[in-house]
Amino acid sequence: MIEMQFLGTSAGIPSKSRNVTGLVLRLLPLKDQILVDCGEASQHQLMRSSFAITRIKHIFITHMHGDHTLGLPGLLASRSLLGSKEPVTVTGPAGIQKFVQDSLDATFCNLDFELKFNEIAKGIDFSTQIPGFKVSSISLKHNIPSYAYRFEQSKPHRTFLVEKAKSLGIPEGHLYKDLQLGKTITLEDGRSFHGEDFLSKPKKPLVLIVGGDNVNPSLVSPFLEHADVFVHEATYTHSDFEKLPRKLFHSTVEQVAKVAQEAKVKNLVLTHFSPRYHDPRLDAFPSIEALAKEHFDGQLFLAEDLAKFELGKPGDALVRTN
Ligand SMILES: [Zn+2]
Repeated sequence: MIEMQFLGTSAGIPSKSRNVTGLVLRLLPLKDQILVDCGEASQHQLMRSSFAITRIKHIFITHMHGDHTLGLPGLLASRSLLGSKEPVTVTGPAGIQKFVQDSLDATFCNLDFELKFNEIAKGIDFSTQIPGFKVSSISLKHNIPSYAYRFEQSKPHRTFLVEKAKSLGIPEGHLYKDLQLGKTITLEDGRSFHGEDFLSKPKKPLVLIVGGDNVNPSLVSPFLEHADVFVHEATYTHSDFEKLPRKLFHSTVEQVAKVAQEAKVKNLVLTHFSPRYHDPRLDAFPSIEALAKEHFDGQLFLAEDLAKFELGKPGDALVRTN
């Protein structure tokens, strides 16, 4: 089961109701927590969440803009002061290591844990294995290098068909273990069995895609086919985007909804909303939701700060739990 909670859902600057970008997630029953983006004050939001700063082991940064990165040095410093000794790996665009290291050095901060970096070279697909997930990057279009991350559950559990083994008279013990490991065994009577035939069908892995800032959501389309959840920015509505004095490299609500519809995405979560929509007196979100629903008929959520979601198994509907 994937659990995720939004730490910030605003674009560019925070407002009274929404912080800048951050998303924390975990694959239960694993305890390691994963952070995607770390805008300023993400650590404050974490304190209000049901996740813990000390359990964050893997951090993925979509791009270098401050509303996605400026909380990172402070979060790492606090994690160290709180006594966490477990290493942390930060994955992100070129420049992430220098930014973090310079900030820590300039503030005379020595972390009590090992900090490792993976920098994504421009134009080269990146993938890595972390407990529970294979994570790969998808290049997006923004005014600086920006990525989406695709989290695919690694090797979903397959159960050993013990009754089948028993019914064929295979003696219990080490032979069962070999079959579970997928090996081929030969009995004393000469019969051979393949481990593959004694494991339940491989389950489809859970797949979650979290995008960074991006003016062209269709770049993610090839990766959406088996995705269970698609989280993407929708900074503006189309009509507001058209009125901007200079075009910014962001997606519109309508664009993302159309891409998700074409890919038959089951669960779409829109986030990273321009502060122009935040004032509650405007009551802008019901109409944003209606706009998205004109183009997308799957399950839709507009993210809010600290909104928490669960996804049980592949094909399930995403459920908001708070
Ligand atoms: Zn942003």
